[in-house]
Amino acid sequence: MIYADNAATTRMSEAAIRTLVSVAKENYGNPSSLYSFGQRAKEILEDARSAVAEVLGAQPREILFTGGGSEGDNQVIRSAAELGRRKGKKHIVSSAFEHHAVLHALERLKKEQGFEVTLVDVHEDGLVRPEEVAAAIREDTCLVTIMTANNEIGTIQPIREIGEICRSRGVLFHTDAVQAVGHLPLHTPDLPVDFLTASAHKFHGPKGVGFVFVRKGVQILPLIDGGAQERNKRAGTENVAGIAAMATALREAADHLEERGAQTAKMRDKLIRGLREIPHGALNGDETRRLPGNVNFCFEGIEGESLLLLLDDRGIAASSGSACTSGSLDPSHVLLAIGRVHDVAHGSLRLSIDETLTDDEADTIIQSVKEVVAYLRGFSPVWRDLESGKIPHIL
Ligand SMILES: *Cc1c(COP(=O)(O)O)cnc(C)c1O
Repeated sequence: MIYADNAATTRMSEAAIRTLVSVAKENYGNPSSLYSFGQRAKEILEDARSAVAEVLGAQPREILFTGGGSEGDNQVIRSAAELGRRKGKKHIVSSAFEHHAVLHALERLKKEQGFEVTLVDVHEDGLVRPEEVAAAIREDTCLVTIMTANNEIGTIQPIREIGEICRSRGVLFHTDAVQAVGHLPLHTPDLPVDFLTASAHKFHGPKGVGFVFVRKGVQILPLIDGGAQERNKRAGTENVAGIAAMATALREAADHLEERGAQTAKMRDKLIRGLREIPHGALNGDETRRLPGNVNFCFEGIEGESLLLLLDDRGIAASSGSACTSGSLDPSHVLLAIGRVHDVAHGSLRLSIDETLTDDEADTIIQSVKEVVAYLRGFSPVWRDLESGKIPHIL
């Protein structure tokens, strides 16, 4: 199999698996237990916290372990909303192409608590404009939440500029950095963010574990009540093995960030060049301001789902839109947000690669996509109408 769906999840690294197994086998104590076996697990937990913090340039107490990216996004948003509400601030600014963990959390606040949400536009290049974020901030804004890098089209947002605007306006800023952590250099001391969410399985760590960076002095409320774990911010016996494996994966990713990023970007650009040869297709999102591993195209006259299934037959695992929307017939909200019309947005393909993709595998992907797109167009009524001029080509 050629695995080209790293934005959905990644293969765990060998080192992360070794950590996971060894901690699960040998250090299964409860970190809250007072005897030394429990305290050993506590040490492993705190070592992992220090390791994660070090990669970000943060302090260990600024790292809050969670059960993954969706949980982190929800906790930050609900907490900021509750603290805002207590001060009469019930407005949140976000963007139209956030992950559903953000958008659906905001939807709930609107429906259940009467919050107002302003979603700033994402332009055709897949980027949010800082000045539009500035214009959306009001007196009663309690949070701005804009992702660092988009999970479908990979575009990297100007979070530094947005963060500076939030700081100057005295508004809390959260960034969903799930696609960025372990893939882009992020250094919290000079990044004006109050909260940053990450998830281990997007950087070769295990699923169901993640963290939120919460800047020192910034308050966060728990999402889950119970014991006093995570300094009362996240109840529940800690996933010690998973957290330790996450720290291993993150350190490994940070140690190889530049070389892996360069190699991945080289293969990304090869894929982009190859797929551009397909007529009436277009790259989605800015070509350079994107994650090293993200390729996302729309092709006219085809259905993304059919393309995927035929690629699967050829042993290629790719994606169309996000995993969360596949299975439904709705086109991707991200592609609609950057202005792709419904028909075109339906014909999308996301390839998300890592540095292990070989030259030969890239050639196989390019050749396969070319053949499958041509094959599907061969019996597409929409394609027939496009070719006969009955409906005009857009791409
Ligand atoms: C995967 C992803 C999430 C959700 O993370 P989970 O750990 O799967 O809950 C949130 N935001 C973005 C941008 C993602 O890519």
